[in-house]
Amino acid sequence: CGVFGVFNHPQASELTYMALHSLQHRGQEGAGIVCSNGEYLFGARGMGLLTEALSREQLMSLETFPHAIGHVRYATTGGSEISNVQPFLFKSHKGDLGLAHNGNLVNAISVREALEDDGAIFQTSSDSEVLAHLIRKNKSPDKKQRIKTALRQLKGAFAFVILDEDSLTIALDDHGVRPLMLGMVDGAYCVASETCAFTAIGAEYIRDIEPGELITLSDKGIEYDYYTDSRHPNMCSMEYIYFARADSEFRNTSTYTIRKSLGRELAREMDVDADIVVGVPDSSLAAAKGFSEASGIPQEQGLLKNRYVGRTFISKGQEARERAVRMKLSPVRDVVEGKSIIVIDDSIVRGTTSRFIVKALKKAGAKEVHMGVSSPPLKNPCFYGIDVSTHAEIIASQKSTEEIRDEIGADSLTYLSVDAMHDVYYSYGSKGQCDACFTGNYPIEIIDRLLPQEK
Ligand code: 5GP
Ligand code: SF4
Ligand code: MG
Repeated sequence: CGVFGVFNHPQASELTYMALHSLQHRGQEGAGIVCSNGEYLFGARGMGLLTEALSREQLMSLETFPHAIGHVRYATTGGSEISNVQPFLFKSHKGDLGLAHNGNLVNAISVREALEDDGAIFQTSSDSEVLAHLIRKNKSPDKKQRIKTALRQLKGAFAFVILDEDSLTIALDDHGVRPLMLGMVDGAYCVASETCAFTAIGAEYIRDIEPGELITLSDKGIEYDYYTDSRHPNMCSMEYIYFARADSEFRNTSTYTIRKSLGRELAREMDVDADIVVGVPDSSLAAAKGFSEASGIPQEQGLLKNRYVGRTFISKGQEARERAVRMKLSPVRDVVEGKSIIVIDDSIVRGTTSRFIVKALKKAGAKEVHMGVSSPPLKNPCFYGIDVSTHAEIIASQKSTEEIRDEIGADSLTYLSVDAMHDVYYSYGSKGQCDACFTGNYPIEIIDRLLPQEK
């Protein structure tokens, strides 16, 4: 998912809309905005892409509100239905609360069951709703204290933006699994999952929000704090590899640059010669560029992507995914004909994409097709908010590299090593990474061992 928030700006809802548009790659199943005018909250949300989810009229109705939060949804927990589309808006006689969440809680079921036993009635099947209940149940007279205590009861990955009538609270989990960035636009503070949202609204990127950090925006200005003393940075490796947009920055380095370095490292580890290097558009073009520079093998645009096909990975059912990949990617025949080719993709999950690419390139006349993957073998499901599916579907959790090579029909298959991947991240100032989907070392204990997709 993607989140955004801005406090005290005359065009708050318009900025939020534009920011969400640039975060669309983080979620396409639903979108919404909740605004405050200082007295009460008002929201609009809908299913699908942002342009489908919110109408012009809905946006106009939010026009005069100076504080806003927004969300684009990528379902990892809870079904695809309107009640699960965020931001959530809670009304109570004590005041309104708007809430948007990126990530996945790993103790949401236990916390929810305890709250329900205590009389709470939930409106959604989303894991994110528990936070609102925990905040509301807390008896402390101090608002910030209520939020802090509630956050300490949550385990898992979360980047939260929380809006009430007169303040916006920003919180990142103590492992900092998901990205969250602080910016400023026309003198107003804003927050976004990725810096590409700042570019889209003309905001300045101030810095990355730290694990465990709690930031409050109100009429008093900005207040920096932490909600916990236990902080262990474990930023999601897949954000760099695949998920974030290439122009988005982490600690002032773009994902493009990081991906290029992953490609360079892969070139060092992949002992294969070929005529050309071809990246799978769009997310792997940077890695292919790095591979080409390090190996001296020229990069060519041997595969073209149809921009009007949505995300293939999310399609339900294997047949639908295969059809979507076929519609999305096609070889440029005279570029690949008679050539031995190194194809670079950022990851192999089920193997749908690589299987299709190898077949399509060979059909177009490629002599040899070698697959290079700019991430290590993906073997384990993610419990922290990225849909890499269940064990049964993840090809590398069932098969060896040689078996995968055979299944996708490639002449060779090389993955980047875990060590080389970490070296790249540390060289760009990372203080710690999550690599659980590659290594099985989950940095946050999975309390409710139920896979999001199995719910
Ligand atoms: P596969 O086709 O092997 O199942 O998935 C690998 C392809 O999907 C790669 O091209 C990669 O860029 C993309 N991919 C990897 N992880 C994700 C993800 O979490 N979501 C989406 N939408 N695509 C992914
Ligand atoms: Fe990211 Fe993988 Fe960790 Fe999930 S398990 S947070 S996808 S690195
Ligand atoms: Mg891809």
